[in-house]
Amino acid sequence: MRVNILIIGQGISGTFLSYYLKKSGLSFLIIDESKSHTASKAAAGIINPVTGRRIVKTWMIDELMAFAKNAYQQIGSELNIDCISEKRIIDFFPTPQMRNAFLERFDEDEEYLKLPANENSWRENFNYDFGYGEIAPIFLIDINLLLSSFRKKMIEENHLLEERFDINELKISDNKIEYKNITADKIIFCDGIESFNNPYFKNLPFAPNKGEALIIEIENFPDNFIFKKGLNIVPLKNNLFWVGSSYEWKFEDDKPNKIFRERTELILLEWLKSPFKIVEHISSVRPATLERRPFVGFHPWQKNVGILNGMGTKGCSLAPFFANQLTQNIAEGTPIHREAEIERFARILSKN
Ligand SMILES: Cc1cc2nc3c(=O)[nH]c(=O)nc-3n(C[C@H](O)[C@H](O)[C@H](O)COP(=O)(O)OP(=O)(O)OC[C@H]3O[C@@H](n4cnc5c(N)ncnc54)[C@H](O)[C@@H]3O)c2cc1C
Repeated sequence: MRVNILIIGQGISGTFLSYYLKKSGLSFLIIDESKSHTASKAAAGIINPVTGRRIVKTWMIDELMAFAKNAYQQIGSELNIDCISEKRIIDFFPTPQMRNAFLERFDEDEEYLKLPANENSWRENFNYDFGYGEIAPIFLIDINLLLSSFRKKMIEENHLLEERFDINELKISDNKIEYKNITADKIIFCDGIESFNNPYFKNLPFAPNKGEALIIEIENFPDNFIFKKGLNIVPLKNNLFWVGSSYEWKFEDDKPNKIFRERTELILLEWLKSPFKIVEHISSVRPATLERRPFVGFHPWQKNVGILNGMGTKGCSLAPFFANQLTQNIAEGTPIHREAEIERFARILSKN
């Protein structure tokens, strides 16, 4: 089999890369083993324009949000699914200091921040002491629905091989890539945390970050908002809610840890007025990077080996935008954003 691009991984990065390659008329094949708890499958799917204690706008968010909204609507309509919805975050202030920070920020720039008319609106559902603000608009992506629907289509169209990719079988020469019976012009790694061990990219400054979440069931609970107080409660379907997550820089493995479950259960018991049942405990490792920017582009010394990775905590907004930039770069030679382009690491990549 001969294709233009061999893609390793069908998380949110590999999904959008293949989507845009197809639109550009480039042929491709994805290899993805079917792992259950990858970063994309564990994600809540939130695109939140503000971050941190000072509630500042995240990097490039105006451009990324507008692009993402369009991208998810378009891919959803082609797959016949509804994978994006607009929501608002009800941001309960955990302390008086956080309330002040929100009010200060609101005075400076109220683009994504709102103050409620009545701070008692959520007393029926929650215990809270310091009021709340609202963050809107935000988008919620049904990432598991998107990944499974896209995968089904890729398998039907013979664009996806469901197996583990073994880098020892890869042969790279200057004008082609060979892997088993596949020949390609280029290979692009969208393999999340597995790139940490990839001989071409292992020197990139990755900063793996583990995240855990609970899936809980609550009867008759409002499902049109995201509720936040340190943790996020995010609506799924059929009375199920995603609750998370942790951000762990030091961890022993990628498995669910009972400390997270116990701590989260205690927080929920104090915060929620409704009874709930824990249905599942999930965890995964985010492919985060030291300088919180993605890794996009081709290896400076091996021009047919590329990467789309390092999405960190923001895969839902970054992946569509940078998958499109990488596709345009391949098809038209247009540049990749200089803060994301891996050329910036040419020196450390030469040490491979
Ligand atoms: C708990 C948690 C919550 C999160 N919440 C959000 C959120 O609300 N919003 C947001 O924007 N981001 C969120 N994130 C971050 C987001 O999940 C990541 O940024 C994003 O999923 C990374 O996607 P990816 O496609 O680059 O990698 P991955 O999702 O890891 O995909 C890599 C794919 O490659 C495959 N693969 C790897 N190696 C091989 C191999 N050798 N052979 C075959 N297949 C292989 C894997 O099976 C996988 O399918 C969250 C992450 C976690 C852990």
